[in-house]
Amino acid sequence: MKRALLRSSAFVRAAKRLVKKHPTTHQPATDLGYLLYKNPARVQSFNLAFGQAHVFYPEASTERCTAALLLDIDPIGLVRRSGGPSGEGFALEQYVNDRPYVSSSFLSVAIAQVFGTALNGHSKDRPTLAETPIPLHAKLTALPCRGGEFLLRKLFEPLGYTLTVQSTPLDEHFPEWGDSCYLTVTFTATCRLSELLSHLYVLIPVLDDDKHYWVDDAEVEKLLRHGDTWLASHPEHELIVNRYLRHQRSLTRQAFAQLQEEDDTDPDTTQAAHAVEEATIEASLSLNQQRLGTVVSMLKQHKVQRVIDLGCGEGRLLQMLLPDMSFLALAGMDVSYRTLAIATARLHLDRLPEKQRERITLFQGSLMYRDQRLSGYDAATVIEVIEHLDAPRLAAFERVLFECARPRLVILTTPNAEYNVKFSGLAGQFRHRDHRFEWTRSEFQDWATTITRRFGYTVRLLPIGSEDATVGSPTRMGVFTRER
Ligand code: SAH
Repeated sequence: MKRALLRSSAFVRAAKRLVKKHPTTHQPATDLGYLLYKNPARVQSFNLAFGQAHVFYPEASTERCTAALLLDIDPIGLVRRSGGPSGEGFALEQYVNDRPYVSSSFLSVAIAQVFGTALNGHSKDRPTLAETPIPLHAKLTALPCRGGEFLLRKLFEPLGYTLTVQSTPLDEHFPEWGDSCYLTVTFTATCRLSELLSHLYVLIPVLDDDKHYWVDDAEVEKLLRHGDTWLASHPEHELIVNRYLRHQRSLTRQAFAQLQEEDDTDPDTTQAAHAVEEATIEASLSLNQQRLGTVVSMLKQHKVQRVIDLGCGEGRLLQMLLPDMSFLALAGMDVSYRTLAIATARLHLDRLPEKQRERITLFQGSLMYRDQRLSGYDAATVIEVIEHLDAPRLAAFERVLFECARPRLVILTTPNAEYNVKFSGLAGQFRHRDHRFEWTRSEFQDWATTITRRFGYTVRLLPIGSEDATVGSPTRMGVFTRER
């Protein structure tokens, strides 16, 4: 049965096979079956909108395991479903085309539908293995590459793949016609299976420069989700975005805006770059870790169960809180969509079990405006955020937080300007170019005291990071407790 399937479909139909081999280092290699959620002992078939997908294992031993995904596309069904000839191309184009025989966006859809859990990096039975880079090979047959081997290499080599490429003549009876655009490619890398699948999922339609379905906003989200760890830094990200979104300006603009690559005046890009700068300046102290650790222990001391992190950025604090089940509800709010997208990826929101997923919410909003969504939490944290707000608008923030949301505990941290003399690499006035101000200890104290008087809170001011006898600690923390 397996052989018949191989012969009749894989070879006769020049089929679209995705082959992953998983040799040597991890044993038993058949654990690949747990990662893919497909039992190596069985052939399984799945009905998809455009035909059938079959999964089987040509080899499955302790040392080596190969899974094959084979598509059997129904070309007649495709035409029927698309509602007949569209008037484009030549009369029979819908019936006579390469689509049933090549590795195209149909294969990407099949990867997502048949290996969706693996694509998202989950494995119930082998969670550690799913997170571990392992030696993998993937082989795609008849992969259409508009741009040829040159482009293929430009797309995959920066991601760490070694490629073996075999070209296909247009017609083997007429070698003088030259090669077709179809390549048979083996991709080899040591990476997580989810990374391999995401790279293929995104880059197959990019190489083909075609998609069998209409692209819309949802495609931007898919692209950013599947490209979250690698796309922004890929040297060809512009071509990838343009081709993946079928060159639709409104969509590519959205994607670029979120990737922050197209327009370097975008505040988010600058913000991200500057955040790196700030992190470098503070790195010697691993100040960020100390800061977050102090905040977490303060929340625990106050027996807080529901926390909202305002200006949550990339979700670092939430990431520390999430595993602790004493926090029943967690929320993160930020003004920047891009950082929220990073937070979503960092917290693996798309793969959290339902119970966990219900505990956490991320949303976009501004601290300048009253917002019902900020109410109902025991504590609000505002970690290294106020110095990003324009000083004249601080009053709006104060009312939003201390008058409207009014949690029983507010933990707020901000840099101590006096400490900046200790940072040798500091070029400008502030630690982060996006900071609108940095306060001295007494300025912070004055502000905090005013807050307590106006809104009925008490405050304790504490140092974070190693304290210097003259200039104090690098970060200051205000712990505000509501009086009534
Ligand atoms: N609290 C995070 C991020 C600090 S960086 C951490 O400690 O890692 C400052 C964050 O404040 C950025 O993510 C920025 O987008 C956000 N921010 C700036 N102005 C804001 C506003 N008006 N409303 C909400 N968030 C804001």
